Amino acid sequence: MLIETDILVIGAGPAGSTAAKHAALGEARVLLIDKKSEIGAPKRCAEGVSNGGLESLGIDKNPRWITKELDGVRLISPQGIEVRLTSDKVDLPEAGCILERKVFDKYMAMDAARAGAEIKIKTLATGMEKTSEGYLISAESMGQVFHIKAKIVIAADGPESKVARWGGLNTTFKPKDMESAAQFEMVNVEMEDNNCIEFYFGSVAPGGYAWIFPKGEDIANVGLGVLSTKTDKSAYEHLLDFVASNPATYNAQPVELNVGGDPVGGMPKKLVHDSLMIVGDAAGQVNPLTGGGIISGMTGGMIAGKIAAEAIKEGDFNKKKLQRYEKECQDAIGKSINKYLKVKDYMMTLSDDELDSIAKAFQDTEFENISTAELVKKLIKVSPKALLKLGKMF
Ligand SMILES: Cc1cc2nc3c(=O)[nH]c(=O)nc-3n(C[C@H](O)[C@H](O)[C@H](O)COP(=O)(O)OP(=O)(O)OC[C@H]3O[C@@H](n4cnc5c(N)ncnc54)[C@H](O)[C@@H]3O)c2cc1C
Repeated sequence: MLIETDILVIGAGPAGSTAAKHAALGEARVLLIDKKSEIGAPKRCAEGVSNGGLESLGIDKNPRWITKELDGVRLISPQGIEVRLTSDKVDLPEAGCILERKVFDKYMAMDAARAGAEIKIKTLATGMEKTSEGYLISAESMGQVFHIKAKIVIAADGPESKVARWGGLNTTFKPKDMESAAQFEMVNVEMEDNNCIEFYFGSVAPGGYAWIFPKGEDIANVGLGVLSTKTDKSAYEHLLDFVASNPATYNAQPVELNVGGDPVGGMPKKLVHDSLMIVGDAAGQVNPLTGGGIISGMTGGMIAGKIAAEAIKEGDFNKKKLQRYEKECQDAIGKSINKYLKVKDYMMTLSDDELDSIAKAFQDTEFENISTAELVKKLIKVSPKALLKLGKMF
């Protein structure tokens, strides 16, 4: 069997569905495939997004996929010193609301279908070869092997992406740039304030951080990400220690375990090749500090979908034509990714004691009443190396 389409999107996560939606809105023939039998499940995500991010994508919030509205963030140092930020005062990533990804991802795919994309679930792309007019992709679904002929392939196959590499783009992330994450969804969680998300820094999660993201009165995603270059223990072992030692989870019980990789090294320079574009986690479109990649991946997907549809209209799918995607991604998300990379690199140099001193200095700060210049001055006073590490950002 041979299926022909203009644009094949491989992977129906948030980035792929958004790419498919915008490509279909641009009047291209679009096929969106995913190897899963249920889009969105299992989730590998703490499910936090910013309200501004959803707005910028033109997505109205739907109570079917929002589990919790948030009003702030608690940053907690190794000694338990807390710095609190509130959403209305500070623009915070991942701190607007908590999704139910299993529903959200399906709704994003439904939006793509409503825009005109065709969807095939339980369909695995197994390889592809370049042709004069695009790609010939091998796929299998329910024991059936078939081929798909596409003028443009959009690789949206997540952090372990193979599709980009099949097309000759080297997107392999180095171990220092790939966080291993483990998370329980838990019940009987007793948070101090379940309208806030919590981040725990320091040796609790070497190279990353631990989090508790509330999903309901006593339900929360409790997880952490670590870098294998910074610890000999697995993320799962660190998670067990965290859950056993945190008062909020003394009485909690897990109902789900999620493990996965999170690319935190920034976007590769090359995101396109002839007839090929990469989006989402596959393209490192993730905030390197927080590991959040839903909004940034969807932003990449939106830009890719629009540009792919234009390329189809103009009958030109060469690398040169598609390179506008790289430029627009840099402007829309690359600059902020680079900024957060610097902050992450600085954070990685901080010992537990240094983190405690910084938290102590900021614990009573009223962030809405302090200028950025004053904040910077205060930070440099307690952590002089911030000037060296973050210098150009100030
Ligand atoms: C533990 C954890 C917590 C996180 N928490 C947050 C958070 O709170 N907020 C946030 O913004 N981000 C978070 N992230 C990151 C976020 O989950 C990802 O950035 C986001 O899912 C990326 O979307 P995507 O569409 O690029 O890829 P994915 O959501 O990974 O989707 C890729 C899809 O491709 C499909 N696929 C793969 N290979 C093939 C193939 N060969 N053929 C067909 N289909 C294929 C997969 O089945 C999958 O559905 C977290 C990540 C982890 C691991």
